Amino acid sequence: MRRDRSGMAFLLHGALAAAFLMLAYGTGEAVLGTDICGCLGRTGCAYTSAGDYDNDGLTNGEECSGLAQYRTWPPANNKKNTDQSWITIYGYTSRTGKTRDQYLDPATKDLFLWMVTGSPTNVPADNLSVFQNGLGATVHPIGQGDMVSTTPSAILTNPYRAVTYRIDATGTQRTARQKAVKLTENLNQQLQYNPPVDNSTMPMGVANWGTPNGGDETTVYTARIKKTVENLCKDPLGNTYPPNKCVDVAGTQGVENVWKLYIRHTIAHELGHLSKLSMEVDTNGNHHYAAESYTVMESAVAAKPIYAADGVAIEGMKFWISTTFPAIDRSNATMGGL
Ligand SMILES: [Zn+2]
Repeated sequence: MRRDRSGMAFLLHGALAAAFLMLAYGTGEAVLGTDICGCLGRTGCAYTSAGDYDNDGLTNGEECSGLAQYRTWPPANNKKNTDQSWITIYGYTSRTGKTRDQYLDPATKDLFLWMVTGSPTNVPADNLSVFQNGLGATVHPIGQGDMVSTTPSAILTNPYRAVTYRIDATGTQRTARQKAVKLTENLNQQLQYNPPVDNSTMPMGVANWGTPNGGDETTVYTARIKKTVENLCKDPLGNTYPPNKCVDVAGTQGVENVWKLYIRHTIAHELGHLSKLSMEVDTNGNHHYAAESYTVMESAVAAKPIYAADGVAIEGMKFWISTTFPAIDRSNATMGGL
């Protein structure tokens, strides 16, 4: 936590291990799912079933047809060397009458999320809206039982969190082909913003950097976020500022609405790291844009006092909680591969 002379607070996201920088080119054409699914298997089709046009780790074939269900183990011989899944979800060709979260689209990214909430949870109902709207991706929440295995292992071929997998010719080895990400809510309330104590090691969220297949898990400290907003929106006597004096720059008002927006932002930020964002690295070696760049992947959320007419007395607090990913992030987001 840094604090300048104007009393501005930077609420830091968690530190990330530095990783080497990769520059990827995004796809710019407006290709639709019908373009892909409508021509698979036909002569002259620009797409293949095994390809992955939207780079989300699910093949065009899987996203057009939906994920198959084979829940028997060990598999029958005729299931060997085939891609399988325990997930129940429709393919693009079966989308009629379905909402987007109920089917896959080979032209826009799909991400499977295993969220483990605390009790009582602070995660708001529309917790994925910032990530989905900002990145143009669709998140499919799943449960522990939807995955092949939930036991961690450092072995690459271990099916931990696998949503699609392949069984080898012997019928005994399952190799993950695409994994879900895991998000855990942590209810620790130790404050990052706790003057005069510098608790900058107390993050609002932490995550690895990489794709869902790189061992990626994240923790979001929802109680810390909630308590931070509650504290910053109190005067020195402990009285909470009125709703129009505890605000986000984009218009959200009131303590509860602000901390819920902050949690949505932080979930989007951490899921962004699990989608290989940002490609840019900040001065601390983390995958962030600079503070006050006002993007979801910036290094910190800013909070500044609202001054009374005399320019001295503080009568409120304003937050800069971004809900925006720049176009380069939307094209660089990578959920397939490592
Ligand atoms: Zn971060």
